[in-house]
Amino acid sequence: MKKNKPRKIVSHDVIPSVMSASSHGAPVPPAERILRFGDRWKYAPAPEAPSDLKLRSRYELFIGGKFVKPSSGKYFPSINPANEQQLAEIALGNAADVERAVKAARHAYDHVWGKMSGRERGKYLFRIARLIQEKIRDLAVLESLDGGKTIRESRNIDLPLAAAHFFYHAGWADKLDYAFAGRRPRPLGVVGQIIPWNFPMLMAAWKLAPALACGNTCVLKPAETTSITALHLAEIFAEADLPEGVVNIVTGAGDTGAALVNHPDIDKIAFTGSTDVGKRIAKSLAGTRKKLTLELGGKAANIVCEDAPIDQAIEGIIQGIYFNQGHVCCAGSRLFVQEGIVEPVIRRLRNRLRSLRVGDPLDKNTDIGAINSREQLERIRSLVESGREEGAEYHEAPCELPAKGYYHAPAFFTGVADSHRIAQEEIFGPVLSVMTFRTPEEALERANNTPYGLSAGVWTDKGSKVFKLATQLRAGVVWAETYNKFDPASPFGGYKESGFGREGGKQGLAAYLQID
Ligand code: NAD
Repeated sequence: MKKNKPRKIVSHDVIPSVMSASSHGAPVPPAERILRFGDRWKYAPAPEAPSDLKLRSRYELFIGGKFVKPSSGKYFPSINPANEQQLAEIALGNAADVERAVKAARHAYDHVWGKMSGRERGKYLFRIARLIQEKIRDLAVLESLDGGKTIRESRNIDLPLAAAHFFYHAGWADKLDYAFAGRRPRPLGVVGQIIPWNFPMLMAAWKLAPALACGNTCVLKPAETTSITALHLAEIFAEADLPEGVVNIVTGAGDTGAALVNHPDIDKIAFTGSTDVGKRIAKSLAGTRKKLTLELGGKAANIVCEDAPIDQAIEGIIQGIYFNQGHVCCAGSRLFVQEGIVEPVIRRLRNRLRSLRVGDPLDKNTDIGAINSREQLERIRSLVESGREEGAEYHEAPCELPAKGYYHAPAFFTGVADSHRIAQEEIFGPVLSVMTFRTPEEALERANNTPYGLSAGVWTDKGSKVFKLATQLRAGVVWAETYNKFDPASPFGGYKESGFGREGGKQGLAAYLQID
């Protein structure tokens, strides 16, 4: 086991709830049950049972309703980031495979799906939603194995939300005329969809469910490190009797995505990923007839005012940046704390970090699982290094990291200047940059001082302050007194370099329709 620096435990650091139990007359807990910050509850391992969906040693492309070999004959490994072992081989799709997939999607659009009534399309989507729901636990195990996220997160958040997206959009399929009353909504045709690795199944559902509900057919390109669950989703499509070619899945890396973007018979590209790649895609589509929506990076500000309920805010901060290993585009990675409460916020944040358990993603007790890939871990480390070099103070929770696998301890920086790279660039890991402010106006100005504009959070007891801040924050989503809450009925998307177009809600439907 690698060991981080041991921390001094101060004697007054006794958990408040344990103290209050005795001060309210409840029985005093036995001495050995008194937990000091820095200690951890000792938990026996609680591994999730294996998935009933069997991992295959090799995954093919899904084109025209069948699993087919890639034209190149090549495969690439999918690695379990928790132990660095190969899980499976994934087909490397190339331009010829994209051609086959787009042809299959066009055929399905022209002959089946584009002609089908919304009511019939809705039945397929309901069926898919129910099948996902039945397999939530099994799919969650595969998601955690392939991506490194904790089983708690994949089983309780990602998969239920993926099913919810299919349910929600199934309900819209026969009501599009009412959603856009007095106008004539029509599908776009064949859409190409490219997704990242941080929410593989959820991103697939965000993309596919609205596109299908609106009558489009799809070619989906999952991220190269997390393709496995998308291919199990393909099995669900087959089980739901979705007509052949309505959804096609071509796996591969950036070149495969670029082949999809540049295919002449694609009517729309929906991309979620980094701002750099999003910009490249926007350039290559400029001047073409193709529609485009981009969901890109973020550097969210989470603003904690002096009158905020601090314990609640601490939980929101933890939720906002440490869960899912910080692999969240809308992670509250810049924490702005009003000067009067800096000391208690930092103290409680440090204490709370010490209670987080880092390790096996498949253990139900784990709070922070594995970083998705070696590359991503190196990116996090290099940004941490830059923060130290630029003069910020680094605080890392003392925790034991497994000897094998890609892990990063939860950490935060204080003494961060707005100009530091850690305040400007996405770290995309469990590392927070803490800054202070004097007035809400100052917080607003600095929160908006970034090229991104995806999300933000506000913590205050005063409703008027919430409205003032929320309306002036240049972010697509602003959470008040909570963080990272999603619902398929609520549109999600960015401002500025965080992209354009919305996913979810009526606005998300509009992105997949031609509305005359
Ligand atoms: P990435 O941009 O490197 O890759 C995203 C996808 O694009 C992958 O499938 C990849 O294979 C593909 N791709 C790479 N180069 C391409 C090219 N030239 N043409 C077409 N496709 C190409 O991003 P990532 O590292 O996988 O994901 C992390 C990024 O995604 C972060 O920046 C994060 O903020 C962003 N993200 C945004 C949202 C959102 O809703 N705004 C959601 C999740 C993730």
